[in-house]
Amino acid sequence: MQQNLWGEYECIDIQRIPRGTPEIVSYTPVHCEFYGHTWEYFGITGLKRCTACQIKGYCPGCTPNPPTKDAQPFYCTKHTPRQTGSEESA
Ligand SMILES: [Zn+2]
Ligand SMILES: [Zn+2]
Repeated sequence: MQQNLWGEYECIDIQRIPRGTPEIVSYTPVHCEFYGHTWEYFGITGLKRCTACQIKGYCPGCTPNPPTKDAQPFYCTKHTPRQTGSEESA
C-alpha cells in the first residue's frame, strides 16, 4: 500500500526583489560608531549636527539645556569623560 505522493508543485511566485537602492551617502552610522561623529555647529548655540549621519547633538557640559528636543547629548572633546585615569573634580 504505497501511496504515491506526487510532489505538490509549488507555484513559486516571482517575488519582487527589492533592489538595493544605491546609497548616496558614503558614510554610515557605523562609521560614526568607529570614528566618532563629524560635528558641524549650527547657528543655534550649542547645537551641533553630524555631517555624516545628520544626527543632532549637543554637549551637556557646554550646554546644560538641550538646544532642541531631538538633540542628543554628546560630550565634546573637552567634556568627554575619560574612562582611564582618575576623575578630576573641578
Ligand atoms: Zn554621525
Ligand atoms: Zn563641552
